[in-house]
Amino acid sequence: SGVYVVTGSASGMGKEVAAKLTAAGHRVIGVDLRDADVIADLSTPAGRQSAVAAVLTAASGPLTGAILAAGLGPGEGRNRSRLITEVNYFGVVELLEGWRTSLAAAQDAKVVVFSSNSTTTVPAVPRRTINALLAGDTDRALRSLRMYGRVGPVMAYAASKIAVSHWVRRQATSPKWAGAGIRLNALAPGAILTPLLEEQLASPTESGAVQRFPVPIGGFGEPGKLADWAVFMLSDAADFLCGSVIFVDGGSDAYFRAGDW
Ligand code: NAD
Repeated sequence: SGVYVVTGSASGMGKEVAAKLTAAGHRVIGVDLRDADVIADLSTPAGRQSAVAAVLTAASGPLTGAILAAGLGPGEGRNRSRLITEVNYFGVVELLEGWRTSLAAAQDAKVVVFSSNSTTTVPAVPRRTINALLAGDTDRALRSLRMYGRVGPVMAYAASKIAVSHWVRRQATSPKWAGAGIRLNALAPGAILTPLLEEQLASPTESGAVQRFPVPIGGFGEPGKLADWAVFMLSDAADFLCGSVIFVDGGSDAYFRAGDW
């Protein structure tokens, strides 16, 4: 049995992954704002630092794997774009960098980062925002979104997931990650019926877009089934999976981009 860290373990897909790993006999260190082994606010540098340290202390040895599921959807509110970029991008990258040595110590560790099919289905996501995130500059990323007004958080969300996927694919093949035996991959869900999606469905400004979004297979995904994919990506079956972004989205990505290669 192994030791796994799961961020966003208090709700939705992260909660399902944590439950499945625990049921399989593994030790899980959950990280979230509440109801978790490690309580931390991943929207601030100090919160991320304390999460890194507390997990390393709790593990007190190699980390078999990490599942980065904490995240915020597009949503609303004045500070929303900042929260989205802080948690969805820096709340992945800074944590993984902090845990890398402990993952390497496990010899064949596996990491699953939650991306989204927003990465390929949201039109005209500003390149400047993505580049600013990849450069580690939150303020520049947020300035680049100023003119978007109410659409800002939608762009912040897609940009955060594109940037984090880009980071996963670039780092995955490097000596620091692949060279240390760490399999770094991303899972890109479509609309999955979790509290995050329920918040969007309850919002008068967002629910129409969610309802009208083309899903060829129909309906919404089930969180437990996405968790099964994440657990599979942590299993021995995934030993040769490295730097992949796996879309599990009812066909939306294929519908929009069948010929994009
Ligand atoms: P969820 O809202 O059910 O769970 C997300 C968890 O992240 C919550 O427990 C929340 O407390 C935690 N979190 C949020 N901000 C945090 C912070 N500042 N510090 C620590 N923890 C924080 O969401 P979900 O739908 O299970 O989403 C899981 C992941 O999947 C997210 O990264 C999300 O962007 C992604 N995703 C979701 C969908 C969907 O349709 N549900 C689609 C694509 C991608």
